Amino acid sequence: MAHEMRSVRLFAGAAFFLLLDIVAGIQPAHAWGCKGHQTVALIAERHLTPEARQLVEKLLEENPVDPLVKRYCGSAIHDLLADGSTWPDDVRNERKNGPWHYIDIPRGAPRHPLEEYCGAQGCVTKAIAEQWAVLKDSHAEPRKRAEALRYVVHFVADLHMPLHASNNNDLGGNCVPVHYLRRRPRQTHDSFSPNLHAIWDTAILERDMEGADPAEFADYLEQSFSSELKQWQKAGIHIEDWTWESHDLAESVVYGELKPQVPVEPPVSVNSCADDNHIGERLFQMQLTACQVYQDAAAAVVEKRLAQAGVRLAMILNDAAGSAVVAN
Ligand SMILES: [Zn+2]
Repeated sequence: MAHEMRSVRLFAGAAFFLLLDIVAGIQPAHAWGCKGHQTVALIAERHLTPEARQLVEKLLEENPVDPLVKRYCGSAIHDLLADGSTWPDDVRNERKNGPWHYIDIPRGAPRHPLEEYCGAQGCVTKAIAEQWAVLKDSHAEPRKRAEALRYVVHFVADLHMPLHASNNNDLGGNCVPVHYLRRRPRQTHDSFSPNLHAIWDTAILERDMEGADPAEFADYLEQSFSSELKQWQKAGIHIEDWTWESHDLAESVVYGELKPQVPVEPPVSVNSCADDNHIGERLFQMQLTACQVYQDAAAAVVEKRLAQAGVRLAMILNDAAGSAVVAN
């Protein structure tokens, strides 16, 4: 399932990666996959103020996605916010803004301000702040505001994916081959499938969804976390805290529950799984496994992070519409 690979965590020119994509048959991955992003958007919609709902509908109806953009997630979902939630992955190569989807905080890094971990080409926390400002600006061009809305919806979800805030010289887990349930990892060139990033993007979630569509799953999450939603709202908007939550979950569950344990690599710059003395192959030799116990622990984290992302996204959209952060 090469489409689950994220090839573009890298800092060089897009042309090279376009070539890489063609050669290796790799396409950029979609953190949380289509269903995860759509679920987050659908949860957020339930918590919008009337003002925010109106702003969202107006911007998206009047400024539709360019019909020439190839929509990886298809056109089956009719909700405009859920449909728009996956657009940033469709344009990440063309716009060369792949680094906006994550922040590379090395495992074990000290809790310094996030700017320290934000690369020269930007990172997810900076992208959220910038796009939030555009969305908020009623004088900005409506087309730009609609794009900013789609970016914010997407990036708040990405930020809640633990591997988008943690790195171990492994391209956010893309270079970590795992024996996932019955699937043994295979190597193609310098990429591996299944790998840790890919199973967190889609496989763990989709197994947990048991065939439900994003609307049904949004209902289920809303029910499951009904007692915690108020707490998340009361805490308010704290992007730094949400980032460190992701980082900590990467440590405690994403890496922490793998058998055997993956050592922490001293941070070096990595552009492919062949770098850092063949990190991918070194990890391949370790025969890492994620069995049913792992799936269960991971699914619990995935569910909570999607629910949190939805509720928190609504607060940002409510703020951008100039209304109270929490809807009544
Ligand atoms: Zn993304």
